[in-house]
Amino acid sequence: MARTILHADMDAFYASIEQRDRPELRGRPVVVGGSSDRGVVAAASYEARRFGIHSAMPSVEARRRCPGAVFVRGDMQKYARESKRIFAVFRRFTPAVEGLSLDEAFLDLTGSQRLLGPPAEVGHALRAAVREETRLAVSVGIAPVKMVAKIASDLAKPDGLLEVRNHEVRAFLAPLPVGRVWGVGPVAQARLAAAGFETLADLAAAEPARLWELLGDWGAAVASLSRGEDLREVEPWREPVSYSEENTFAEDVGDAERLAATARVHAESVARRLRRDGLRARTVVLKLKLGRRRSPGARGYPLLTRQLTLPEPSDDGATFGEAARSLLARAALAQPVRLLGVGATNLVRADAGQLGLFEPPAETRRRSRLNRALDELADRFGPRAVVRAEEGDAERAALSLQIKRGED
Ligand SMILES: [Mg+2]
Repeated sequence: MARTILHADMDAFYASIEQRDRPELRGRPVVVGGSSDRGVVAAASYEARRFGIHSAMPSVEARRRCPGAVFVRGDMQKYARESKRIFAVFRRFTPAVEGLSLDEAFLDLTGSQRLLGPPAEVGHALRAAVREETRLAVSVGIAPVKMVAKIASDLAKPDGLLEVRNHEVRAFLAPLPVGRVWGVGPVAQARLAAAGFETLADLAAAEPARLWELLGDWGAAVASLSRGEDLREVEPWREPVSYSEENTFAEDVGDAERLAATARVHAESVARRLRRDGLRARTVVLKLKLGRRRSPGARGYPLLTRQLTLPEPSDDGATFGEAARSLLARAALAQPVRLLGVGATNLVRADAGQLGLFEPPAETRRRSRLNRALDELADRFGPRAVVRAEEGDAERAALSLQIKRGED
């Protein structure tokens, strides 16, 4: 059975909130973001977009294109609050809500027609409910698959709704440029264009062998997406509450340096997973199982946990490693350790602190550039590729990774 997926996306989210709250900004080109030399546009109102201003553009360039633009520093906490209200509205329609960012989500309406009515009516009702709750505009795309729903909401902007029915999908996609397929960035797009593939119709009709030559294994997936075949389901996201990694040593370890090095490996790994999931942690937890059994059975080893709250939420492995090292020192161990774990908890979404990112201090910028490069290496070659030299002998026996999810 065909599914019914709704993609909801707020229009110029941050900028619209500012225009709502500050009437003097309405009808004016508003840029949310840093205005200094280093600043970057986080959001642009539709009035500003008419000048070619878009998010991620350097603020200097935005100012050049529209000297009259009003720059607003922005208030990420306020945007996160609005996001919560919007998602609460989404969940009135179905529990199957998959958030993609603060202002964007997929809703699976499959099977809810009998309860809620035809999909387009649900879409109109959702748009009205969001407006009622927040006085903000949301655009909606409805389609049998995720990718098409997302393209539809984009084409419906601003403040619109577009439904693409099952039998309309192929004709809807056919004339669109190949860059509309998820994952086809400028490089792949240029390669496809050079080979004569301009539209999704070209891709849908391509010989599989030809696409394989151009894109490798990924070619087949691109061809199915361009035909509107996208089997991914809506995955409701539950807030994780903690990330951790631990290992049991092959033999108990008493050497403080070696323990600290192991903690550092875990810290880097936990940080990497947080970054991948767009999260930061306020609290670092060190877990130790001591080597001398107190009572029989696996639970007989004394367990020690120590935690430390960081001055700022972080996703930096070196910061977690330092915290773990100082917790280790404070534990003043009198006996060797059987198991060592490092956890990160008290999590916040990384984008909730994004305002700091507009113009972060140089050290933070350097760190996050380095972290991004390490993440790419780890994705390509596996996490061991980025273990630093002094950590090379850290024990990884009986390693366990954990993500604890909160209850629904
Ligand atoms: Mg949006």
